[in-house]
Amino acid sequence: MNAYVQRVLDELNQRYAHEKEFLQAAQEMLGTLSSVFDQHPEYEQAGLLERFVEPERVILFRVPWVDDAGRPQVNRAYRVQFSSAIGPYKGGMRFHPSVNLGILKFLALEQTLKNSLTGLPIGGGKGGSDFNPRGKSDQEVMRFCQSLMNELYRHIGADVDIPAGDIGVGAREVGYMYGQYKRLKGEYTGTFTGKGLTYGGSKGRTQATGYGLLYLVDAMLKANDLKLEGMGVVVSGSGNVAIYAAEKAMQLGAKVIAMSDSDGFVVDENGINLDAVKQIKLVERGRIASYPEYAKSGKYTAGGSIWSVPCQLALPCATQNELTLEDAKMLVQNGVKAVAEGANMPTTLEATHFFQENGVLFASGKAANAGGVSVSALEMSQNSQRLSWDFDEVDQRLKTIMEDIFANIAQTAAKYATPTDYVTGANIAGFLKVAEAMMAQGVV
Ligand code: NDP
Repeated sequence: MNAYVQRVLDELNQRYAHEKEFLQAAQEMLGTLSSVFDQHPEYEQAGLLERFVEPERVILFRVPWVDDAGRPQVNRAYRVQFSSAIGPYKGGMRFHPSVNLGILKFLALEQTLKNSLTGLPIGGGKGGSDFNPRGKSDQEVMRFCQSLMNELYRHIGADVDIPAGDIGVGAREVGYMYGQYKRLKGEYTGTFTGKGLTYGGSKGRTQATGYGLLYLVDAMLKANDLKLEGMGVVVSGSGNVAIYAAEKAMQLGAKVIAMSDSDGFVVDENGINLDAVKQIKLVERGRIASYPEYAKSGKYTAGGSIWSVPCQLALPCATQNELTLEDAKMLVQNGVKAVAEGANMPTTLEATHFFQENGVLFASGKAANAGGVSVSALEMSQNSQRLSWDFDEVDQRLKTIMEDIFANIAQTAAKYATPTDYVTGANIAGFLKVAEAMMAQGVV
């Protein structure tokens, strides 16, 4: 490894020993950047990497709210404004009990490179809270979102920082947060993306991450003389990304045979009935365990690993580190041809290497799931123009963006690594654009 990169990594390991997801993401990324720093000694003179790995700003605050029983509750919330080198901070808000600063820094780092890859002028950020929306009433969720925004509104804005959804933050939460933001700021400039269609949201945003994932997978398979049609697909999760990834996979002729949630997974050899999944997860906010009852087919397994289900295409779309080396071994043994990350860093570093060493095509999240933020940026453009494009226009732009991302990472992989090392291709292509902007802007 390049000595400068190694030094910065060592310093990070010392300083942030307790932030294990952030260190994992930094290791994954920096580990592929050596050739860039070999070719650009001026980056070290400018202290570029030390600056790049530190967020520009972190906001940490308490969120007090009152539950339905009248008891005060307190959660912790954060906004990590990681990099504004190429545009205003942009990235989702996550509500999940596991949320902490290390997880949000990892997500914001990923987001910075992902946003760069989209080719659109957006910097990187991420935020969230350890609040758990599961089991809360709509009123409780609303009170929490309003209280959170009573602080966050000071730090965001259409040209400053534009949050969006993520795990635990869907249309309901975005609506409550945006409503309170608007009330406090007295402006209607579209500071959130993922908004409802009646108040500035973009058509196609709901589907964008999942659909975009499949557009990229399709391009990757074609470039390697494979085709999606007829493939058996396993999709982990059953949230926003998973549902629309499954939908587009089916539209493109593949067969989705398994999906999951954090309690277990369901296998349906007839092909997953997506209407049943949507009813359970999107309408009733229920558990995937009830799938066999709704779909009148399929088998549910509590716990266990969804990656034990044989498939040709695996799409981890739930959460970080959900696909381990053990899982990767099962998938390879069962003949998997390609893996693409719908979630952020769902595959551990060891599992990623195992796939690559065994000839499995692997697309990392910062390229593969960039469709969501791409359409978010299109939502920002529509808001600025006071226009609303139709679904087909947004979808066509999304497809073009994902195909361009694939072409970019494939070309970069061929130039700096090996033709199918799309992980290195994505890291370097995303990083170079940010690095050039940072060099141009001086030591700031
Ligand atoms: P959702 O909250 O809509 O769905 C998350 C899904 O993952 C749920 O089915 C959830 O199950 C499941 N899940 C969560 N934790 C675990 C776990 N520990 N083990 C197994 N399953 C789990 O989130 P999204 O679909 O929006 O996000 C999923 C991933 O995609 C995240 O990594 C996110 O950062 C990433 N992403 C999302 C984008 C978007 O546009 N939404 C854009 C780019 C990336 P349960 O119902 O039991 O909680």
